[in-house]
Amino acid sequence: MEPSLNRVRAGHAAVMEEFGFACWDCGATNFIQGRPKGFWTTTHYELPGEWTCWNCEALNRTPDD
Ligand SMILES: [Zn+2]
Repeated sequence: MEPSLNRVRAGHAAVMEEFGFACWDCGATNFIQGRPKGFWTTTHYELPGEWTCWNCEALNRTPDD
């Protein structure tokens, strides 16, 4: 019998959350996908440190929380 704990973890780890960040250059909103860092928290997400604006291709840095 599989412990129910494993099912909870597998389901939680699959959750992806989208975050909107305004580009420093043109102000366009970019949506960055992140996944939760821990199994039991939904308040901290792992996001790429840098991303390129879809509108003006400026390099942006993800702010630390
Ligand atoms: Zn931009």
